[in-house]
Amino acid sequence: MQDLMLIDGALVAGEGEAEAIVAPATGERCHSLPEASPQQVDAAVEAAERAFPAWAATPPGERAAALLAIADAIDADAAAFADLEATDCGKPRHLVVADEIPAVSDCFRFFAGAARCLTAPLAGEYLADHTSFVRRDPVGVVASIAPWNYPLMMAAWKIAPVIAAGNTMVIKPSELTPMTTLLLADKLRAILPAGVINVVAGRGPTVGAALASHPKVRMVSVTGSVETGRSVMAAATATLKRTHLELGGKAPVIVYRDADIASVVEGIRAFGYYNAGQDCTAACRLYADGRIYDNLVADLTSAVSTIAYADADDAKNEIGPLISARQRDRVHGFVQRAAEDGSGEVTVGGEFGSGAGFFFQPTVVAGAAHEDEIVRREVFGPVVSVTPFADEETAIAWANDSEYGLASSVWTNDISKAMRTAARLQYGCTWINAHFALTNEMPHGGMKASGHGKDMSVYALEDYTVPRHIMVKF
Ligand code: NAD
Repeated sequence: MQDLMLIDGALVAGEGEAEAIVAPATGERCHSLPEASPQQVDAAVEAAERAFPAWAATPPGERAAALLAIADAIDADAAAFADLEATDCGKPRHLVVADEIPAVSDCFRFFAGAARCLTAPLAGEYLADHTSFVRRDPVGVVASIAPWNYPLMMAAWKIAPVIAAGNTMVIKPSELTPMTTLLLADKLRAILPAGVINVVAGRGPTVGAALASHPKVRMVSVTGSVETGRSVMAAATATLKRTHLELGGKAPVIVYRDADIASVVEGIRAFGYYNAGQDCTAACRLYADGRIYDNLVADLTSAVSTIAYADADDAKNEIGPLISARQRDRVHGFVQRAAEDGSGEVTVGGEFGSGAGFFFQPTVVAGAAHEDEIVRREVFGPVVSVTPFADEETAIAWANDSEYGLASSVWTNDISKAMRTAARLQYGCTWINAHFALTNEMPHGGMKASGHGKDMSVYALEDYTVPRHIMVKF
């Protein structure tokens, strides 16, 4: 198994403390991985700095060819990537194969094309006798810090736009799920010049913090919790780095009276629970018109009771376990507090799944008030709350009354109401009669405490480049 890091074109073992990697579906330790030492973090950043001038000067067409080769290499070894991701995250393997790997290679293919199509204003004379034009140039060395919920996909979202734009980088996967990024490191080594990408393993407060504060890193990008975003931003201030923060979410879902309830139930069953709800866009905070509320709760409860998990035949599973015992206990705590203080009724689920893995039953909490903890805080587990509302104004106000601003959805058959609501929601994305669907052509990213900066789309390329004004006197 490839478990080495990539520094300056060479695969090397970490020289720091070892971290155990536990398989969430069984609770068993499956690997132990030493993290990068401070000297190795420095070596990775310095390698990226040395590689920068030549990579920045590499024509977009050549960079694009490298990205296409990376996509092909991922597709060619899809089975190995899927095996590792399924073990490290506990995800149903068939879903990694069907949903994640194709999106990962498509991300590299999208940015291969986009790198060749960046546009800027045409040259012009804005002062007499001077021609001005704008260049979009890379930022320099970028440090990227990734989470555990979609390890390979998050690595792709970070790597593809950064190198497409001509930057060089150091990426750190989550200490809980580093293995697919390490396998990718081996593929990258064969395709990219030494130093363009460096992969270091390790924990947040050690390796992550060292990257965020490193004086030679010009920009730091992190996907993680709001708390981690704050630490990274604080660390970045000393050297005034650019930041790109994809943080938590608590997606509101407004269900109007005229919505097609069967599609709402089907949508929430799928997108409130996908990846066991460990998704920053999960459809987890429903506000339903009081006149359809009882029917919606009843139908959703019975639909959620059929979600398959922890089956010995993994092909039947729709969701996996939570990432760790700690995360499962945290989720359980939210649900228990809601049930005990009377702020919500658990209509299905609410307890640990059976077995040694970190499973938690798919859960619906009905009737919690907008002020209640279960409605306001990010649970990051297979738990959906449903709260009745009396009118459109209240639904929109409650939806917006959150520190988060990542994703939201509106369900109605009235297009005017849908558009009116979407226009007022303060979220990076609003789906109408849908939830969760993402595509590499469109931006993904938050507002408010969900962070700033976009993943995917040309907006990510813009984030990882700087517009520069060149003026020529004639
Ligand atoms: P986390 O914040 O614990 O860890 C994320 C990454 O940050 C890990 O690699 C970790 O090692 C690193 N890290 C932790 N502390 C650090 C520090 N002080 N300095 C530098 N790096 C540090 O998050 P997680 O538990 O891995 O992921 C779950 C969180 O991520 C949730 O809040 C979720 O909403 C969010 N998330 C957001 C998006 C998005 O697109 N907005 C996508 C996926 C996950």
